[in-house]
Amino acid sequence: MDHTGADRFKTAILLLAVIGLVTGLALRVAGQDRLADLAWFAGVTPALVALVVEILRSIGRGEVGLDIVAALSMTAALTFGETLAAAVVAVMYSGGTFLESFAEGRARREMHALLSRVPRIATRHRNGGLEEVPLDALAPGDRLLIRQGDVVPVDGTVAADLAFLDTSALTGESLPVRLARGADAMSGSTNAGEAFDLVATHRAAESTYAGIVRLVEQAQRSKAPMSRLADRWSLGFLAVTLTIATAAWWATGDPIRAVAVLVVATPCPLILAVPVALVAGLSRAAHFGVLIKGAGPLETMARIRTLILDKTGTLTDGRPQIVSIDSHDGVGEAEILRLAAALDQASKHPVAQAIVAAAKARGFALPVPSEVAEIPGEGVVGRVDGRTVIVGGEGFVAKRVGRQSGDHPAMAAGSVLVAVAIDGRLAGHLVMSDPLREGAGAMLDGLRREGIARILLATGDRANVAEHVTEGLGLDGLRAGLTPDQKVLLVLTERKNGPVMMVGDGVNDAPALAAADVGVAMGARGAAASAEAADVVLLVDRIDRLGPGIEIARRSRRIAVESVVAGIGLSVLGMVAAAFGYLTPVQGALLQEVIDVAVILNALRALRINPAEATTAGALSPASAT
Ligand code: ADP
Ligand code: MG
Repeated sequence: MDHTGADRFKTAILLLAVIGLVTGLALRVAGQDRLADLAWFAGVTPALVALVVEILRSIGRGEVGLDIVAALSMTAALTFGETLAAAVVAVMYSGGTFLESFAEGRARREMHALLSRVPRIATRHRNGGLEEVPLDALAPGDRLLIRQGDVVPVDGTVAADLAFLDTSALTGESLPVRLARGADAMSGSTNAGEAFDLVATHRAAESTYAGIVRLVEQAQRSKAPMSRLADRWSLGFLAVTLTIATAAWWATGDPIRAVAVLVVATPCPLILAVPVALVAGLSRAAHFGVLIKGAGPLETMARIRTLILDKTGTLTDGRPQIVSIDSHDGVGEAEILRLAAALDQASKHPVAQAIVAAAKARGFALPVPSEVAEIPGEGVVGRVDGRTVIVGGEGFVAKRVGRQSGDHPAMAAGSVLVAVAIDGRLAGHLVMSDPLREGAGAMLDGLRREGIARILLATGDRANVAEHVTEGLGLDGLRAGLTPDQKVLLVLTERKNGPVMMVGDGVNDAPALAAADVGVAMGARGAAASAEAADVVLLVDRIDRLGPGIEIARRSRRIAVESVVAGIGLSVLGMVAAAFGYLTPVQGALLQEVIDVAVILNALRALRINPAEATTAGALSPASAT
């Protein structure tokens, strides 16, 4: 049954239950007790039948849920002549689904906000005038006019002296960002200042915002897996309920006591509160630019103790600058760069993209490479201008051309080294610097405060580079020279000591992300492989969002547990009172409804979580809560 069909069916059942209840009450007032019973009975039957069918189906799938308590309590109430209590339970149970979807709707609000602003047209400069064009028609190089209040349609660079962009919908950052001429503007942000010109650098479909929208939609389609939290508790609750009900009946010989107990237990805060709190947590995380793909990953994220970070593109900026070019074989520096960049056009590796950008900035026309073969994360081999070119890490190139004298250029400690071989001989090295991302140190401190006990660095780069770059960060370990496969092995080894989170970027980290309990991908743009393999995506390519993400996961899980403990505690108290005869079935049903509403309201508190780490990271003002 499709979604709306199922909704309509549920509405019909709720309506029948309400009509039955109200008609019965009217008849009771009119003194027609037998007819009143009949009306209540008629109102309960559809709800009960639908519920039993649903239960049989789920048992067929091997699942035992708390629906059984609801079915038992309605059946028992009807059997022992408590038709009014049965009618109240039927209304509340079928109404519960609506209460839940209302609460979930509220909880998803911020995720919808992320999607609701997709622009459809852009304003483009053409022949001295302006024209309105659909987004699909935009190409890199187009000059666009972004008016005040416009959403930036594609990624581009600012072509005015100054621009103010509001990125709050994407990052939760409340203050507008000030951009100077030539700075990168992210699609999906809003122009909070005067109108300015933007030169597109990407097509709409390849821009950040399109990637975000695609990922969020995908995450919403995948039905949130039933939370393990509720699963674990529900069998215990079922057992407690049945024990108290049976004991009360056996001790007093009065079946109505058992009916009252069952009625108090229905519906259960467990079914309602947990999904609401967790979905609210997902939504809150999205507000800060952290897309968590479901309740399952959120719960796991809350339990993470070990964190493994990739270096290039994750802990570092991933846009290395060329510091120097060393030539060993009499090949000119410009020629080394030109050939390496031509070949690296075929690679999505951040180092490759930086090399291409550097060559273009120097005005080189880059020929198209052929016969290209890449080992992701290690290097590329191919033909350019009829010559065989190899570009990559030292080990990768040395394995193919052998080590040669003079292959260790003088270089500042901590620079990334890219080796280039031409026609089977080592031609030279590109020495590049790739500094840490801003706020990396503060972020790691924050993660430790959030209870992450072990932080490791895993990199394909050389050990001395990694050591130098991460000096002072207080990492618990550093594994260098790893291929993507060895990163997977490291993740699997660490998982023996508890749940592991792996943070990485690019195609080469996708296997490690998939192997971790929680894989976190950087950025929604470009190489989608890592974002698809990941459980969590830092939408805006900012690693300082990791701390707030983990904090939100922990706190919303805590709120879920709290709601469940409080709700079940109150329910059990009510059941005991009912067992001792202090509550009639009808009073019990009403009491339970009060408990459920209270518990759901508590669960919705997860929507107001304001992560402290977001403010200590220095990027956010405390007033950013909405
Ligand atoms: P990390 O694990 O730190 O992210 P990678 O494993 O992605 O690093 O890359 C390690 C090194 O491999 C880079 O520093 C670079 O020297 C080299 N490398 C990999 N692929 C390429 C490429 N396509 N072009 C140039 N260098 C590359
Ligand atoms: Mg990397």
